[in-house]
Amino acid sequence: MQVHKYDVVIIGAGGAGMRAAIEAGQRARTAVISKLYPTRSHTGAAQGGMCAALANVEEDNWEWHTFDTIKGGDYLVDQDAAEVMAKEAIDAVLDLERMGLPFNRTPEGRIDQRRFGGHTRDHGKAPVRRACYAADRTGHMILQTLYQNCVKHNVEFFNEYYVLDLVMVEDENGVRRPAGVVTYDLATGDVHVFQAKSVIFASGGCGKIFKTTSNAHTLTGDGMAIALRNGIPLEDMEFVQFHPTGLAGLGILVSEAARGEGGILRNSEGERFMERYAPTIKDLAPRDIVARSMANEVREGRGCGPNKDYVLLDLTHLEPAHIDAKLPDITEFARTYLGVEPYTEPVPVFPTAHYAMGGIPTNIKAEVYANSEETIPGLYAAGEVACVSVHGSNRLGTNSLLDINVFGKRAGIFASEYAATADFLPIPDDAADATVAALNKLLDGQGTEKVGEIRKELQEVMDADMQVFRTEETIRNAIATIEKLEARYENISVQDKGKRFNLDLLEAMELGFLLQLAKVMSVAALHRQESRGGHFREDFPNRDDENFMKHSMVYMDAESEFEGISGMRFDTKPVVFTRYEPMERKY
Ligand SMILES: Cc1cc2nc3c(=O)[nH]c(=O)nc-3n(C[C@H](O)[C@H](O)[C@H](O)COP(=O)(O)OP(=O)(O)OC[C@H]3O[C@@H](n4cnc5c(N)ncnc54)[C@H](O)[C@@H]3O)c2cc1C
Repeated sequence: MQVHKYDVVIIGAGGAGMRAAIEAGQRARTAVISKLYPTRSHTGAAQGGMCAALANVEEDNWEWHTFDTIKGGDYLVDQDAAEVMAKEAIDAVLDLERMGLPFNRTPEGRIDQRRFGGHTRDHGKAPVRRACYAADRTGHMILQTLYQNCVKHNVEFFNEYYVLDLVMVEDENGVRRPAGVVTYDLATGDVHVFQAKSVIFASGGCGKIFKTTSNAHTLTGDGMAIALRNGIPLEDMEFVQFHPTGLAGLGILVSEAARGEGGILRNSEGERFMERYAPTIKDLAPRDIVARSMANEVREGRGCGPNKDYVLLDLTHLEPAHIDAKLPDITEFARTYLGVEPYTEPVPVFPTAHYAMGGIPTNIKAEVYANSEETIPGLYAAGEVACVSVHGSNRLGTNSLLDINVFGKRAGIFASEYAATADFLPIPDDAADATVAALNKLLDGQGTEKVGEIRKELQEVMDADMQVFRTEETIRNAIATIEKLEARYENISVQDKGKRFNLDLLEAMELGFLLQLAKVMSVAALHRQESRGGHFREDFPNRDDENFMKHSMVYMDAESEFEGISGMRFDTKPVVFTRYEPMERKY
């Protein structure tokens, strides 16, 4: 077992991890550990934009942005966090500009801005241009820019190292704190331990729980599951964002920028149906509302195509030159994957699992909560893995690229400041034993079950039972299926027994993470007997502030059971209110 020593260890080299690294790297000895080469992280797939109330092209201010974020999240947003994010958004964009990010410009040379769902002028009066962008490759530009700046600041990367466990120990005051992480080096198959004073989770989302998803193959929620296994609760996991416009049947994303630039959704009758569901901002309503409206059109028989199972995104009224300038990549996706020419034909689309609103609970300093009240000294989380919670029960488009920059930066600063005052905790001799045992069990096992099959069945049941519409019956069915799959998981083995680049082995570990997270998600969905944001219960179709205006906190706990489901403990955490009283959510 090799041991490395750094003041700050960051898990993940996406936008959140690298933004943290730029800060921490200038203040403390910092290592970034990433299972992917940094510029392959999912942030690089982000398309449409990153918002900030710069008011470059229209009147705007951060207070309107705060309000939109809170209302968009159906009031489950922690309002202190939303204020921080909207206020610091402006510097976050300017920081990137100074680092060299090539944003699209107005004719006067300012950063251009465009419309996105749920972002409005003066508390919902009309859509506002708030998203800064670089064509439909905004995330690619952010990731490249951050990586170049990490290199400039001599940040040390350990690429293709998988973090598989967190080492938590009691300090001399009896407080459980992180002492480091256990990793697996993909190239050699060796286990390395990184000792650290502060640890930052920046390991991204878990969209691969679902079959139809915009997420990359690697988004298996490792960080969330590792936290859970170490006694840390996960917050608001029932809230998954289904992005309205995935390419039908595939889930590949067509950015909301397509609607921001004027695209319109139509049903089989050619009707612009969003006029019925959101009369004021129509196709630019928040994603939960648009996704549900689309699913409803299909249910009521107004879907398109041979199976009437999708709707159409119509860009044909836009100038081809405009499409080429503002939406080049996504229109190419439609040509490549569906054989559709967006200049002249509408594009078949249907909701696709896109974003986890929930995750590791943190406060506005990115400090991780141990329970509903106390934080864990030295442990931080930022980006999609975290739940701070700025997105509440539904995230607005362009608020995630913002979140990773604002809270990534904060995590980097606070983690390195903490490291300056703290001591290293000793790494116990048996710190890596559980990880090594789990790996050996898979390598030596003679089990007959196959990883790919269990993963497929998991994703199928989650698509069928935990998608846009849910009921107690579908959720219980999902849980029963997950429990059966968990039992079968005990009997898997991997075909590749080698030490070098054994992706077979890592995918088996990732499947273990997915199964646990799917269960947490379903348990939280079962508990929430109301409909709010991305979580819609057909058996409880209304929002119920009296009973459910609180965050869910699910713990993994062998001794406990929740509603007949063993190994889970359930608790809640209050929502932080500053200025905005919950109102009815109309658009
Ligand atoms: C197709 C698509 C388009 C999007 N478009 C937009 C948009 O236009 N605007 C917007 O605001 N949001 C958008 N989003 C959402 C947004 O891009 C993501 O939420 C955000 O980029 C997540 O950043 P992150 O840094 O948290 O995680 P990621 O960028 O996913 O990075 C995760 C990192 O963690 C590492 N990692 C994971 N597990 C481990 C492990 N076990 N050990 C070591 N390392 C690990 C990975 O190697 C990776 O480096 C989009 C998302 C998708 C999928």
